[in-house]
Amino acid sequence: MNTIHLLPDLVANQIAAGEVIQRPASAVKELLENAIDAQATKIQLIIKDAGRTLIQVVDNGRGMNFTDARMCFERHATSKINSADDLYRLTTKGFRGEALASIAAIAQVELKTKLADQETGTLLITEGSQVKEHTPVATTYGTSISIKNLFFNVPARRNFLKSDTVELGHIEEELNRLALIHYDIDFSFYHNGKLMLQLPPSNQKQRIITVFGTHLKDKLFPIELNTETVKISGFIAKPENAKKKKNEQYLFVNNRFVKHYLLTHAIETTYKELIPEGHKPAFFIEITVPPETIDVNISPTKSDVKFQDDRMIYAFLNAAVKKTLGTLSLIPQIDFNYNPQYDFSGIKPKEDFKSPALTLNPNYNPYSSIAEKKTTPSDSWQQFLSGLKNETITSCHLTSDKLNFDTEDVESETIFDETKIKCLLFSDAYLVFILNDILYIIDVKSARERILFEHFLTALENTPMVIQQSLFPETITLTANATEIVRDILPELRALGYELEQIDRISFAVNGTPVEEEVDIQQVIEQFAEMYKTHLFLHKTDKNSAIAKSLARQKCSTKLKIFSELEQQAFIKQLFLCKIPNISPSGEKIMKIFTDEEIRKIINA
Ligand code: ADP
Ligand code: MG
Repeated sequence: MNTIHLLPDLVANQIAAGEVIQRPASAVKELLENAIDAQATKIQLIIKDAGRTLIQVVDNGRGMNFTDARMCFERHATSKINSADDLYRLTTKGFRGEALASIAAIAQVELKTKLADQETGTLLITEGSQVKEHTPVATTYGTSISIKNLFFNVPARRNFLKSDTVELGHIEEELNRLALIHYDIDFSFYHNGKLMLQLPPSNQKQRIITVFGTHLKDKLFPIELNTETVKISGFIAKPENAKKKKNEQYLFVNNRFVKHYLLTHAIETTYKELIPEGHKPAFFIEITVPPETIDVNISPTKSDVKFQDDRMIYAFLNAAVKKTLGTLSLIPQIDFNYNPQYDFSGIKPKEDFKSPALTLNPNYNPYSSIAEKKTTPSDSWQQFLSGLKNETITSCHLTSDKLNFDTEDVESETIFDETKIKCLLFSDAYLVFILNDILYIIDVKSARERILFEHFLTALENTPMVIQQSLFPETITLTANATEIVRDILPELRALGYELEQIDRISFAVNGTPVEEEVDIQQVIEQFAEMYKTHLFLHKTDKNSAIAKSLARQKCSTKLKIFSELEQQAFIKQLFLCKIPNISPSGEKIMKIFTDEEIRKIINA
């Protein structure tokens, strides 16, 4: 006896529905996408009980004729593609022809639709895929489709649904994902008779603000990149807008919201160190590529996308975000003799993509002039400077835009001369000064942490610090835990000037220390090890950053006694030489700057 038979349509559709329609929000997505594919310019979404009892979408799109109104509920019934090749020429959201069939299998559906040029429309009522009614009806052009009692015949699914708040959240999210990219469409959203969201046609920026609120108003900056193979546009939010939650990250590929781990990384990595650890930057980015270079047919919900060459897209996206973040910085920054030629057109797929390089001259000593002037810096200041002497650069130019990719106009740069800066130390914690008509207030502690962090990172990656050998090595004793940590990073500690040698289970001989360091080494290493452990394990940063961050943090736990005028000036210069002078490695803001206009505003406020 044969045991294999074909499943009845209803069962097949219910199985398909398991993949496509997981919750009310999935049905909302499919219906809204159909309305968009039908070229609607106005779409209403009407929900009751978080989608459990009613999901209705009313559009003013193309509509369907009498036969199509019946056909659209058949499995693999679609007007959008004809052959498999069409999968690589997609311009519509839908193409699998299974959404309506799946929904109809697990709900009661009422469809009213009319073509613009026809007198009468069509009414179609189904229940669990069974057609209950199919008659002409008077209706306006476009389509209204109501899904009632979703999962009425699949109790297991119904029981899986979460609270109304959660389900409603998912519905809003699906709506946002479409509304943020189809900003020219008029959307409105009602829940239990209440208007929840009204989105008139607008531009993308305005749409983002209407969806997420005015807190983003002055914080969105455009990104733009055009090449033969990729077009990138959209908005990124200022680093200070980053949040702990990952809720405002929207990436669209050819008008479709996608989740793409690698591309998200291309964006997030650019923000690294501009925002506190664990925070997520907000972005709304649109990537357009030729449809034949992507595959969206890799998951039933079509929220994943595969690129022919994702490394190239990664590089372009990364560069585009960097460019905007660079121009966004309001702080005058030092031009490190970078190479301003940064030409996108020459980049071929699969070629390595390099960011502009910053070159440092390790032999330049900016403090030689300070030494000549025979100042007597305070002890802690001396210590602070001692390690820093080796890095810096041959020439310093101030530009308003460090990552300016196309300007070769060096004329506009002013030579940075820190000796001209007049500084005030306020409340023993803030440096106040004026530079190029801008008033700066700098938080000394955070600034110091930033300077030390970058300095330590350089020591770890390129130029190890000079070690002063101890004549009579001191012995330090650590906890078992700290011992293990320290033993793991002895080479790194050496690069930072601490030459330690394990002499027994929990003790180390201190054979060398950074030049001019006269502090309690035991305490430094103990506290450092503790911070390093947290950094590495909690925040998942790479080893060198975690080490540099921890040591910088440790060093800043004691107060820095500045300061003669020269010391203050040198400090400011060191800060401006940092790659990221405005945020400390622990994510604190370092400075506040004011133009004369802003001061006027403050006075008048
Ligand atoms: P797909 O969108 O993948 O084609 P669906 O099951 O979602 O599959 O829809 C089947 C077909 O029904 C569509 O191809 C389209 O022709 C038609 N259709 C669905 N919704 C609408 C609508 N709102 N307006 C006009 N036609 C629609
Ligand atoms: Mg569809």
